[in-house]
Amino acid sequence: MRIVDVKLIEEAIYEMFLTCCVHPDRALSGRIQDALAVEKSPIAQSILKQIQKNIEIADQNNVPLCQDTGMAVVFIDIGQEVSLKGEYINDAINNAVRRAYQDGYFRKSVLSPITRINTEDNTPAVIHTRIIKGDKIIIRVAPKGFGSENMSRIKMITPAQGIEGIYEFVLETVKNAGGNPCPPITLGIGIGGTFELCALNAKRALLRSLGESSEDEDIAVIEKKLLNDINKLGIGPMGMGGSTTALAVHIISAPTHLAGLPCAINVQCHSVRHESRTI
Ligand code: SF4
Repeated sequence: MRIVDVKLIEEAIYEMFLTCCVHPDRALSGRIQDALAVEKSPIAQSILKQIQKNIEIADQNNVPLCQDTGMAVVFIDIGQEVSLKGEYINDAINNAVRRAYQDGYFRKSVLSPITRINTEDNTPAVIHTRIIKGDKIIIRVAPKGFGSENMSRIKMITPAQGIEGIYEFVLETVKNAGGNPCPPITLGIGIGGTFELCALNAKRALLRSLGESSEDEDIAVIEKKLLNDINKLGIGPMGMGGSTTALAVHIISAPTHLAGLPCAINVQCHSVRHESRTI
């Protein structure tokens, strides 16, 4: 049994939020450059250049990439041969979020859904814990802005609608979202499982490095087709027209019931922020 002090996890999560609210996914700049090479619309080109400039300014001045530093989402996979020592892990995670948002001067956006009174420290974090094999701890964090979160959708598609039903649902969701999620977007899509599992898989899919295809070849083909079709919709960067509506489509599928075909779409804006670390 490997003993891990919870303080180590708190420090890692603190550093990860300080980093990822400022520095986006390492692949983002490259993807913007790729888009610029094929984008024909002058206004779309100008917006992509501004997004690129914004990434550089955030990087050079160590300031947040976007004013909306999001709700703190934490995925933590704990090896079953690990024994945690110290305080309750969820308290440690929330301490890390509280400290990072305070020290980084990040916006505190979390409040009661009923009274709308702000908790003032961006806690509680949304925490997803999983037990895995071995003696490692894998932590992934993602601050999630709500301009894009609000455009996310879930649908219980019928098996008869099949894959065509999924294509239709995805394109309809992107069309209805228009410029609201600050495109160019990335889509995390969960297919199969149950109502809640497909939503969780949609969020997990966004943790993949930007543009990394699924290891499942059949799924990778669907990702490519969807990306291609979305970029023909003409929404463009910030909804101002052009061929760069999405930078990537990431899908995770799971076995489902014979009577159903759940599909969830988690929309991610161009501020693609996440970090991962193994302890
Ligand atoms: S959707 Fe993304 S880019 Fe737009 S305001 Fe929110 S976090 Fe910022």
